[in-house]
Amino acid sequence: MATTQNKDYYATLGVKKTATSDDIRKAFRKLARRYHPDVNPGDKKSEEKFKEISEANDVLSDEKKRKVYDQVGFYSDQIDPAQAEAYARQQAAGGQPPVDFGGFDFSGFQGGAGPTQQAGAGSQSWGSFKDIFSGIFSGAQQPQHPRGPQPGTDLEYQATVDFWTAIRGGQARIQVNRQETCPTCHGQASTGGPMQCPECNGSGHVTQMGGRMKFNISCPRCNGTGRTSSECATCLGEGVVARAEAVDFRIKAGTRDGQRIRLQGKGNAGLNGGPAGDLFLIVRTGTHSVFTRVGDDIQLTVPVTIAEASLGAKVDVPTIDGRAQLKIPPATQSGQKLRMRERGVENAQRPEQRGDQIVTIEVVVPHLQDERSREIMRELAKLNNQDPRVSLFDKL
Ligand SMILES: [Zn+2]
Ligand SMILES: [Zn+2]
Repeated sequence: MATTQNKDYYATLGVKKTATSDDIRKAFRKLARRYHPDVNPGDKKSEEKFKEISEANDVLSDEKKRKVYDQVGFYSDQIDPAQAEAYARQQAAGGQPPVDFGGFDFSGFQGGAGPTQQAGAGSQSWGSFKDIFSGIFSGAQQPQHPRGPQPGTDLEYQATVDFWTAIRGGQARIQVNRQETCPTCHGQASTGGPMQCPECNGSGHVTQMGGRMKFNISCPRCNGTGRTSSECATCLGEGVVARAEAVDFRIKAGTRDGQRIRLQGKGNAGLNGGPAGDLFLIVRTGTHSVFTRVGDDIQLTVPVTIAEASLGAKVDVPTIDGRAQLKIPPATQSGQKLRMRERGVENAQRPEQRGDQIVTIEVVVPHLQDERSREIMRELAKLNNQDPRVSLFDKL
């Protein structure tokens, strides 16, 4: 009988034992982004790592599974939560096992053909161990049913759409790598006849540590039958294959940067007839050389002449709908902001509502080329000889 090693799921995810479900979710997502097979195509180490963190997440993200794991030191679907609770309480109350072990030291026990098997331990006491075990775990001795339908996982991608598509709405396309149902085995993960299970070498059982005790559990790979079907060569027994695919999606007018779009059923394929996951797109909106978008507002800088700024003027400025007239009030200063109401972007949630266009005025000082212009400027200075720096000195 093979021994499966206990795994420290907390260490795998790099979180403390006191981590909240939110901490666990965040830690998993962070690691998943790094080790996802889509990000590291063909990298077996990353794939292994990804499997490990997925397994850790599967247990720790589920409140019931996590509780059992915390109590017994590993998780199996065969553990009855109530029995695990009783076991943990007994352990906490002074290490007294929930049943009589008859003086047997389980810490020295190795099941099966392990090299440390001692006379007096192991097979001789096996019966009682089994009894204890079946008291703690319900259904442990019964062969399990083959795995039922499992839903596919969700995918998350960033989708960059250009500036105008985000504003006006339209179609966009993104390249995604998703798991599809294997075309060879149709998601069954196996082809051909049964063979001896390599996990338990056909015994149907593996041992696992629970505190100081070793538990004999039904082999998770073959569900205790000792036999497994031969793996499908196309998907290597996964039931799914990775495939790059172009996904078209619709962008609403006024879609903002960072907005999430959910495409139902466009995530990874499920197993054994389970439904596919969803594809979540995080929209990144493109930039523009003239317009800057801030939420539903459009910002831009408009240069004006000294005459326009001092006398006031009506000037043409670009908006996302084309040219529009902007009234510059007399004595407008450089850096001053003028608001053009409802010249911004349509709101994606409330299409009747629009943002504004905010114009920053930039006064352009002329290079005076001729003597006549310089003469006029000097005359103007004489007529308007206020010192704009006077207030600076007042405050000293
Ligand atoms: Zn296959
Ligand atoms: Zn097995």
